[in-house]
Amino acid sequence: MHKIDIELIEMTLDVMKYVIGRVSATEHPIGKPRKEEDLKLAVGETVTPKGVGGEYAFNLWKEHLASANVPVDHPRNLAFVPASPTRAAIMFDLITSASSIHGAYWMEGAGGIFCENEAMRWIVSLTGLPEGAFGVFTSGGTSANLSAIVTAREHWRENPIYKREKGLIITSIGAHSSIKAMAKVADVDMILVDTEERLTGEELQKTIDALGEHERKCLFAVVATGGTTNAGIIDDLESIAKVCEAENLWFHVDAAYGGGALVADSVRHLFTGIEKADSITIDPHKWMFSPYDCGAVIYKNMELAKNAHSQQGSYLEIFKDEGAHGFNPTDYQIQLTRRVRGLVHSRP
Ligand SMILES: *Cc1c(COP(=O)(O)O)cnc(C)c1O
Repeated sequence: MHKIDIELIEMTLDVMKYVIGRVSATEHPIGKPRKEEDLKLAVGETVTPKGVGGEYAFNLWKEHLASANVPVDHPRNLAFVPASPTRAAIMFDLITSASSIHGAYWMEGAGGIFCENEAMRWIVSLTGLPEGAFGVFTSGGTSANLSAIVTAREHWRENPIYKREKGLIITSIGAHSSIKAMAKVADVDMILVDTEERLTGEELQKTIDALGEHERKCLFAVVATGGTTNAGIIDDLESIAKVCEAENLWFHVDAAYGGGALVADSVRHLFTGIEKADSITIDPHKWMFSPYDCGAVIYKNMELAKNAHSQQGSYLEIFKDEGAHGFNPTDYQIQLTRRVRGLVHSRP
């Protein structure tokens, strides 16, 4: 497997040429989706007993498949949430793939995780969270939101009186679909505050005051949005933080999309209050120029995330031994085996 293989070298050079062409081009073909039957007709059988070989597969890609995608970095692609990875990020994506780094534990991935943590320190610094806050890169905002909700719920359930209760969270109708979907995964109930404008502490307080006794008992978290995906609305984080503090509720800010705007002096003030969050989601693969997939979840108190997510298992114990000490990304979110995707995060 590791002996010199001229064919592989030639193919790698071809691929590099393609990659360089792709990232240097100023005019991208836009491409469009095609029907599955048409694509099948064009490429024929590709999974065969002998295999079609890399070169053949690469040619199929170039001829028939590349143009069946709509690249999100096309200058005219303004749909959904655009992303535009930098060349440096793409280069490190290639390095990540070629390096076979298992990014769950420091013992195996120290060099890669070190790079991730340098980038993470910078992202955390944008939020203004206090000393001790830190985070970890995830596959995206959805898994970051899930990781945060589960951390909040587990922390709440440490109190034995809530042990057997189904939790409740409050968010607004502007919250991203992933909040609603992940509340289902975590099996927590949800109340959506109906507001076309940004959610404020006042409305949150009104909603809390209207809860029945049992609902109030089960309420453990509030999810505010730092840039709604449809309209870019940033909830009134400052006043929401105040209510959360007074009511002893976990305060999560979903800034998956808007988090990149923390860098912009022109709008930074709109995020005032984010520094009081218990957890924050930011997607580097949206406005921070990373390739897919790269999200991030940040916690004020990392120990709480560890209590919720650290996996136990006989074959995993070695990673926690003395001598294996270091930062283990798996302990702070839902994924075990992971690529060191934060390596592709390049500071804009
Ligand atoms: C995009 C987005 C998400 C989901 O993130 P993925 O990376 O697509 O999983 C969550 N919340 C908001 C506000 C978003 O814009």
